[in-house]
Amino acid sequence: SKGHIAHADALASNDDRRIASSEQVPKKKKVVLLGTGWGGMSFLKSLNNPNYEVQVVSPRNFFVFTPLLPSVTCGKVEARSIVEPIRNIIRKKNVNISYSEAECVKIDPNNKKIYCRATIDSRSKGEEVFAVDYDYLIIAVGAQVNTFNTPGVMENCHFLKEIDDAQKIRKNVIDSFEKASLPNLSDEERKKILHFVVVGGGPTGVEFAAELHDFVNDDVVKLYPNVQDLVKITLLEATDHILNMFDKRITNFAEQKFGRDGIDVKLGSMVTGINENEISTKVRGNGEKTSTPYGMVLWSTGIGPRPLIKEFMKQIGQGNRRALATDEWLRVEGFGNIYALGDCATVNQRKVMEDISEIFRKADKDNSGTLTVKEFQEIIDDICERYPQVELYLKNKQVRNMVDLLKEAKGDAAKESMELNIEEFKSALSEVDSQMKNLPATAQVANQQGAYLAKCFNRMEECEKNPEGPPRFRGTGRHRFHPFRYRHLGQFAPLGGEQTAAQLPGDWVSIGHSEQWLWYSVYASKQVSWRTRALVVSDWIRRFIFGRDTSG
Ligand code: FAD
Ligand code: MG
Ligand code: MG
Ligand code: MG
Ligand code: MG
Repeated sequence: SKGHIAHADALASNDDRRIASSEQVPKKKKVVLLGTGWGGMSFLKSLNNPNYEVQVVSPRNFFVFTPLLPSVTCGKVEARSIVEPIRNIIRKKNVNISYSEAECVKIDPNNKKIYCRATIDSRSKGEEVFAVDYDYLIIAVGAQVNTFNTPGVMENCHFLKEIDDAQKIRKNVIDSFEKASLPNLSDEERKKILHFVVVGGGPTGVEFAAELHDFVNDDVVKLYPNVQDLVKITLLEATDHILNMFDKRITNFAEQKFGRDGIDVKLGSMVTGINENEISTKVRGNGEKTSTPYGMVLWSTGIGPRPLIKEFMKQIGQGNRRALATDEWLRVEGFGNIYALGDCATVNQRKVMEDISEIFRKADKDNSGTLTVKEFQEIIDDICERYPQVELYLKNKQVRNMVDLLKEAKGDAAKESMELNIEEFKSALSEVDSQMKNLPATAQVANQQGAYLAKCFNRMEECEKNPEGPPRFRGTGRHRFHPFRYRHLGQFAPLGGEQTAAQLPGDWVSIGHSEQWLWYSVYASKQVSWRTRALVVSDWIRRFIFGRDTSG
């Protein structure tokens, strides 16, 4: 019947429409993310563009809140309180995200592929290699410990990078006290067992030494009273001071506090080798060599690139670098679709002086060969956006703005009518690049980079439709997004005895007990979920009331 045909027609046209529309809907672009640490987690938390399909590859199916790792080593906080399952993070998203527990072993940028090895079952290691295609690759694999090829370090030292490390250290610390309490040991032997050596006076080494000292003071005295006097903590630092990256006042305070606490801080002391029983050092100045018996060593001297990154850098001609170089948009240099962030990467900031002729040419709209104040004012925003060091320089020099800087360069008499030629322009700005610093390898940086990159991905289509970007960025032309800008929020150094040093932006320094409370509140608020926040806070309260848990 007629009705029937009409119905069939409707069906057919429906089908046509369906086919047509499925042809129109573009395939989702595939983003592959390597790593579930600070950089990766932060990217996942901020990404909300449903037009991407994300595949996460990481050997670790959880995120670790690393700033609290030192607290785990002596039982102030439980290990499980500072980890968040990655599947908890991704299930809450409106974006299609999948996860594979595997490590990436090779990157093939020419075919837009990575090769991975499943890491779940240690027996099958090496066999299950699979390939994953990507449209965009985000590398956030972090770094690994650096032994500087010192003999015996890998075999005999503890490290503090992962949650397992912290748990092993905790068990080892408690075992040391149990071992030293066994009968039939000489005092010499007990002293050896209870000699804890920390190599590296950076924030991690210092915090561990402080934790250990607190543990001895608060708990060991009650639980192992017979051996408490035999405990010795030594901190070895190769340079002239501990906590180099902090303000002098903090360094001095920490060195003096450790001195009073009986922690033996040996400055200018290089470790030359470690065997099962002794650690050998050389004094930097006079070359004097010593070997000392030890019970336990924590090696905490800095980080180096992972094999995957080393290999990739070789492949792409960055073989002589220590981290993957990216531009300020976090794109690996030479690739538009590979991003890198966090500890495995470093941002190659552009220097004003390298681009100075181009800047001048662009600003000199009338091609007169000189810049007027008006011409210059039109590009100031772009310059500040493109070269973040400029603002830092102005702040440090206490110059109000760039026009004042130019006027100063031209001499006091210069008025609004001032004009600068290229040489004068160069000399006025010759110093601005002096403020450039590499970003530190911190959670703060990785976290901000992950959030920045997610924002770029959230806005990707909007930017593709309007490639010039918002008017503010017009003129820089080449790029759709404003470059990554790091905002330093300050830094803490817990020093033990419920005292913490805080260095906040503007080099505002303060040290004491109230800073420890600031530390507690900042680290509680930075937790990635309410679950871990509740766990961490209850661990702190438990420790205040009942002391540390010393089973292990
Ligand atoms: P990570 O967080 O290390 O994450 C790397 C991820 O990549 C991990 O999930 C890892 O499993 C995965 N991965 C490794 N290899 C592969 C592979 N081949 N394929 C796929 N995935 C891989 N910073 C601060 O700002 N403040 C602090 O107080 C602070 N305290 C710290 C205390 C300690 C004890 C430590 C170790 C670090 C601390 N940091 C701190 C530094 C901070 O943790 C790092 O800078 C930060 O973790 C870097 O983030 P990331 O994402 O680059 O790497
Ligand atoms: Mg990461
Ligand atoms: Mg991490
Ligand atoms: Mg970095
Ligand atoms: Mg001109």
